[in-house]
Amino acid sequence: MLDKPQTKTMLDTPVAERMPREIAPGVFWIGDCLAQRHKGKSYHGYNAAYLVAGTEASILVETGHPKDFPVIERHMNELFARGVAPLKYLFVTHQETPHCGGLGRILKNFPDALLVGDVSDYHLAFPQYEHRMRSMNEGDEIDLGGRTLMAVEPVIRDLRTTWWGFDTKERVLFPGDGFAYSHYHEDGHCGLIAEEAVSLDLPDVSSTFADLALFWTKFADMNVYCDRLDHLIARLDVKIIGPTHGLPITDVKTTVPKVQAGLKAAALMPESGTNEKVAVS
Ligand SMILES: [Zn+2]
Ligand SMILES: [Zn+2]
Repeated sequence: MLDKPQTKTMLDTPVAERMPREIAPGVFWIGDCLAQRHKGKSYHGYNAAYLVAGTEASILVETGHPKDFPVIERHMNELFARGVAPLKYLFVTHQETPHCGGLGRILKNFPDALLVGDVSDYHLAFPQYEHRMRSMNEGDEIDLGGRTLMAVEPVIRDLRTTWWGFDTKERVLFPGDGFAYSHYHEDGHCGLIAEEAVSLDLPDVSSTFADLALFWTKFADMNVYCDRLDHLIARLDVKIIGPTHGLPITDVKTTVPKVQAGLKAAALMPESGTNEKVAVS
C-alpha cells in the first residue's frame, strides 16, 4: 500500500511565517498568535502590531506581546529591506503588556524612533528614553509623508489613558482593545481577516473576550457605547479596522454589528472568572 502523500496545510504553517500581511496600501499587519485552551479547543488571541508606512517615515502601532518581539522585529526588518520608510515613531494604545511589552526593546533597537501617544509612566520604567517620549491628545497627528497617524477617541477601552490611532490616508482605525475577540487555530482562522474566517462566530468570541478582559462592560449600558462607536466610524469614515486582539475588519458595515452584538450580549451575563488552567499546545 502506498503511503499517503505528505500535504502541508495552512495549519502547519505558523502565522508568524505568513506575515507581514498588507491590509491596506502601506499598512502591514505583523506579529503572532497567543494560544490558550478554551471550551476544549486551542483558542488563539492576537497581540498584533501594525506598521504604517508613509513616504518619509513609518510608525509602529502597538509592540505585540513580549514573547513576540523577535517576530515583530523580523517582520519590520523584512519590510525595511523591501524599501519601506524607516521607523521614526512608535504609538501604543495603552500601558498594558500585550500592547506595549516590546516598547523598551523597540526604543533600544531603533534609536531614531520617538514614542508617541499617552506616555504616562513609561519614563518610570525607561528613564533613559524619557527625552524620546511625546504626549499626544485627541486630534494630534504625526506626519509620515503622504499620510498621518491621528490620535482619536477611544470609545471602548481598557485603561483610562487609552488613545486609538487612525491612518488618515486609507482610513484605518487602530482600536486597541476595542474590537477584541479570539479565533480557533483548528479552524484555520490564523492570519485571516474577519470576513475570510467564515466559520468564526463573531458575536460569541467577542462576548467571551469582553467577559475575560473588559470587566466594566458588565456594568455599563453597551448600547450607548455601541452608538458612540457608530458615530466615530461615521465621523472618520473608517474603511478598515486593525484591532490588537481580533482579526482585521475590511467590511465595516457588515462585521462591526456582529462584534457589537457580542459586547451587548456579554454585558447581560455575569462574569465567568477564569480561563481553563491546562497546558497549551
Ligand atoms: Zn489588550
Ligand atoms: Zn491563531
